Amino acid sequence: MEIINGKELAKKVRGNLKLEADKLKENGVNPKLAVILVGNDPASKVYVRNKNKACDEVGIEFEEFLMDENITNKELIELIDELNERDDINGILLQSPIPKHLNIDKAFERINWAKDVDGFNPINVGKLVLGKDTFISCTPFGIMKMLEEYKIKTEGANAVIIGRSNIVGKPMMQCLLNSNATVTVCHSKTKNLEEITKTADILVAAIGKPKFVTENMVKDGAVVIDVGINRNEEGKLVGDVDYENVKEKVSYITPVPGGVGPMTIAMLMNNVIKATKEQNNIK
Ligand code: NAD
Repeated sequence: MEIINGKELAKKVRGNLKLEADKLKENGVNPKLAVILVGNDPASKVYVRNKNKACDEVGIEFEEFLMDENITNKELIELIDELNERDDINGILLQSPIPKHLNIDKAFERINWAKDVDGFNPINVGKLVLGKDTFISCTPFGIMKMLEEYKIKTEGANAVIIGRSNIVGKPMMQCLLNSNATVTVCHSKTKNLEEITKTADILVAAIGKPKFVTENMVKDGAVVIDVGINRNEEGKLVGDVDYENVKEKVSYITPVPGGVGPMTIAMLMNNVIKATKEQNNIK
């Protein structure tokens, strides 16, 4: 069994991106990310802080837009329009979740697709479906990068994803399909889940429930990718996989923390550099 070290790999990715950012700056181009944070969700604040830290490390400018939790849809759209217009901003990220009275779909649609470094704008989602070059949403993108780095073959593999959210499950499905895996997507209405997950050569868990994936759900020698971020009773960060028991059976597994999470942020950095280059016609 090998543990996929997302933390180390993310560091390597950031190191390579720093070289690219340095080169851009030598040419007078300053990559910059704008992050919109609405309200006071403590977990979101931690995510934004970590993104800020990664930007500092790579050499990407970071500007945070803190919005009151009572802002209106109109005010949020106005802010997005302003950031779309600003030439100094290359990437725009709206930290989710946002308060329920706001329309997140409309907000994602409004972000200029060329600055949509999270890959949630329908144009970028559509391009991913068509297998075109696009901004791939960062969590699935990070997972694909991990599989590639660890030389885990996706072509012809049976991949099973648990979870069908727009930010993880669905783009994950598309990425794996685009890389020639045979993909099954399971969700809360799936019957005989265990029968399906046991067929997986690659199993991706994106559910949001601690210890959901138990050893009896996993085939011997499978690759298990744990996207979940949950707090257990002791307040400790845990994934969706019963790590201690599942790890005995698998060929590769990602830990939580230190697996998918750091890679997600590294791929966000990748997307900001990509956006900056494209907006400046730099190859
Ligand atoms: P979500 O709540 O939007 O989706 C959860 C999915 O799980 C749904 O599609 C649902 O159908 C499925 N599900 C729920 N109960 C199930 C059951 N009993 N059997 C089968 N499927 C079931 O969540 P999300 O936004 O996709 O996030 C999933 C988890 O991943 C969360 O813990 C979240 O915090 C974490 N996450 C981590 C990262 C990262 O960078 N590591 C990024 C995004 C999300």
